[in-house]
Amino acid sequence: MSLRVCKNGHRFEKTSDCPVCPQCSSTEMKNAFGEEFPALGAPAFRALHNKGIKNLKSLTRFSEEELLSLHGFGPKALRLLKQTLKANGMTFLKNKK
Ligand SMILES: [Zn+2]
Repeated sequence: MSLRVCKNGHRFEKTSDCPVCPQCSSTEMKNAFGEEFPALGAPAFRALHNKGIKNLKSLTRFSEEELLSLHGFGPKALRLLKQTLKANGMTFLKNKK
């Protein structure tokens, strides 16, 4: 690992599996997901992106359990999304059990 500074002045440690600045990629992701989306960490955004989730509304097709099982997606991200969905009158998919 080596310490790097990106073009926007963020300092970050460069690792082989994640060569991009985490702060910049997180901001880019947030922009891609839309205004109303909360600021999650880059791994959480990537996890959602890999699931084909593009905006707040597409989140409603998934249950909390499904999202928590995604690599890089944790309880903190879930809590933020839950609040945001609620504020917009939406909820996660109910578990089918
Ligand atoms: Zn940066």
